[in-house]
Amino acid sequence: MNLILLGPPGAGKGTQAELLEAERGLKQLSTGIMLRAATEAGTPVGLKAKAIMDRGDLVPDDVVIGIISDRLNEPDCAKGAIFDGFPRTAVQADALDALLAKRGEKLNVVIQLEVDDAILIERIANRAAENEAAGRPVRSDDRPEVFPNRLAKYHRDTAPLIAHYRAKNLLKSVDGMQPVKIVAAQISAILEAL
Ligand code: AMP
Repeated sequence: MNLILLGPPGAGKGTQAELLEAERGLKQLSTGIMLRAATEAGTPVGLKAKAIMDRGDLVPDDVVIGIISDRLNEPDCAKGAIFDGFPRTAVQADALDALLAKRGEKLNVVIQLEVDDAILIERIANRAAENEAAGRPVRSDDRPEVFPNRLAKYHRDTAPLIAHYRAKNLLKSVDGMQPVKIVAAQISAILEAL
């Protein structure tokens, strides 16, 4: 099974992807996590991506499509993948269709996590403050001067995918403002009903 968790930054995609990975043996493929690992390792891709990510802009499509294409070929994706933070543009969505088709697979469902902007801003500010208080590193793109740009890029480039997948009859929406466990239960119910 291949599914996309679609939603703005801070909607809880990563949290839900981790729960699904633990429960269902599907692999979480987060382009954000992979890009951060690449920047920390100082790889050519990471070096190219760092400044873009620090500004809250989107990394070029060919870069993230390349990352996903390589990753899908690894054995731990055999049972399927949970795409978290990918696709973020129409070009990426088309590339994903092509990559899955090449593997004889398809996208089974797109789960949209709906969260109001005001709540996202509050959540990210809390995440940054908690990390800081605990002496953990704060993501540079969680800073209050950067986060609004991430949100703006989401509305401009990624939110149109909601209508795209609705038109393909693949979209299911969940209220992402509910407690984590309730969101997880509603996602499970959607998957069980497929
Ligand atoms: P995330 O961890 O998903 O919030 O992603 C953090 C940052 O990585 C984003 O703000 C982008 O700069 C970059 N990024 C992650 N995934 C993508 C993607 N699919 N397309 C373009 N940029 C991405």
